[in-house]
Amino acid sequence: LSRPSEIFAPRRNSQGFDLTDEAELARIDAARATHSPDAAPIIASGDGTGTTRDVVNPATGELVASVTEADSDTVDRALAAATPWKASPKERADVLRRAADLYEENFGPIFAVLHREAGKSMADAVGELREAVDFLRYYAGEGETRHAPARGVFAAISPWNFPLAIFTGQITAALMGGNAVIAKPAEQTPLIAAMAVRLMHEAGVPREVLQLLPGDGKVGAALTSDARVNGVAFTGSTDTAQIIRRAMAEHLEPGTPLIAETGGLNAMIVDSTALPEQAVRDIVASAFQSAGQRCSALRCLYVQEDVAETLIEMLTGAMDELGVGDPWHLSTDVGPVIDEEARDGIAAYLEEHKARIRHQVAVPETGTFIPPTLIEVGGIFDLEREVFGPVLHVATFKADKLDQVIRDVNARGFGLTFGLHTRIDSRVEDVARAIRVGNAYVNRNQIGAIVGSQPFGGEGLSGTGPKAGGPNYLARFTGAAVDPVGA
Ligand code: NAP
Repeated sequence: LSRPSEIFAPRRNSQGFDLTDEAELARIDAARATHSPDAAPIIASGDGTGTTRDVVNPATGELVASVTEADSDTVDRALAAATPWKASPKERADVLRRAADLYEENFGPIFAVLHREAGKSMADAVGELREAVDFLRYYAGEGETRHAPARGVFAAISPWNFPLAIFTGQITAALMGGNAVIAKPAEQTPLIAAMAVRLMHEAGVPREVLQLLPGDGKVGAALTSDARVNGVAFTGSTDTAQIIRRAMAEHLEPGTPLIAETGGLNAMIVDSTALPEQAVRDIVASAFQSAGQRCSALRCLYVQEDVAETLIEMLTGAMDELGVGDPWHLSTDVGPVIDEEARDGIAAYLEEHKARIRHQVAVPETGTFIPPTLIEVGGIFDLEREVFGPVLHVATFKADKLDQVIRDVNARGFGLTFGLHTRIDSRVEDVARAIRVGNAYVNRNQIGAIVGSQPFGGEGLSGTGPKAGGPNYLARFTGAAVDPVGA
């Protein structure tokens, strides 16, 4: 395969919503207002007998619902009942396309749950729904044309930060491969997962083919150490991926695939030729959108010394313009972090580094908010772990030390996203060649990727590849060989 038209199946991405159109906004408002979330039952074969967990709105502290979680008996019964999908690839694709339509039709309740359960702003909720729908249609199209034997039972273990898009992407890929899927959503976001699974069942995915097991890490651990599992799709932290890898090596058949998408310590370089207004806009989006809770988010900004002070001044001004608050409000740019544990961990980090804080934005007193924060680190970064929130570190570099910056970024071992702002064409080529990341972005923000056009995924400590939303992702879910040409 060498021509893009052969690598990427023809498709149309979800159009989403025009959030600048008042009539459209009124339609969204009316549709989401009618939804009141109820308790999400376990959706698995056999009855659930697990404990209950309260889902709390991170912006308000209000109880959203109490959810029954799976226990070890439920996990056992789900594995015993799991049945690969016998329908033809064409039939499976049609069902998944129907699910995509149902997702789009149910945008109101989906947004309501994304705001309340996951603290997603309206822009984030729209992006999340579009990406989920794109995964459904893209993998349906890919799987329809590439036949390969199913592996058997897939465990799909997902994070809370894209509780609809990533959850849906993993499941869809595994289903399109003809596998049975047992999905374990993050403990913070079972409601949107249950809504997605109900829509998939309504579209025609058989119940014994797709089961949902809400619960905490113990449910994930039970799945990834049970020999009845023939493959694991995992997205989450690098530490959890390593625990899963060890559990699989000990308990599962040798060669069982682990498709892992993990964390990042993502950098951006802004040189003295960059357009400052554009760079600032893209830095703010990359570091603070979704309250910095994106694997792709910018953590370490390197600004060339000559322009640093001007750029940082502009950046702090732009930070002050951010609307921080309840994601239900359309004016909110930055919502809360996911829960108290996340808030307390980031707050402790900020306390530890308070001498270096250059700027912070005020946040509401209730809810689990972290102020968007800029930390100045001078010339040397000692950041070793991902701080998963709206915290941006900025360092300066001298004009002749760009190569050293690239070496430092590569040496961290993570390789997810990278951003470059420059107007020197040869520099774009040199840096793109030298940097070791999955997704590099030039003169734009470094978050987001379009399914089918911009496959997304990291290398090194950031993931196992092949990339999600790209032509090789599906192959790992079946016995098919991976095509070395595509991303
Ligand atoms: P996490 O703590 O690693 O959890 C991810 C999932 O793994 C959750 O469902 C979790 O359950 C489950 N889990 C925990 N312990 C387990 C175990 N021992 N065995 C099996 N499963 C287990 O990650 P998170 O905090 O939800 O998500 C944030 C992280 O995800 C960040 O590091 C971010 O960079 C990364 N991420 C990466 C990508 C990418 O595409 N590369 C995309 C999004 C997010 P519980 O919910 O009960 O803990």
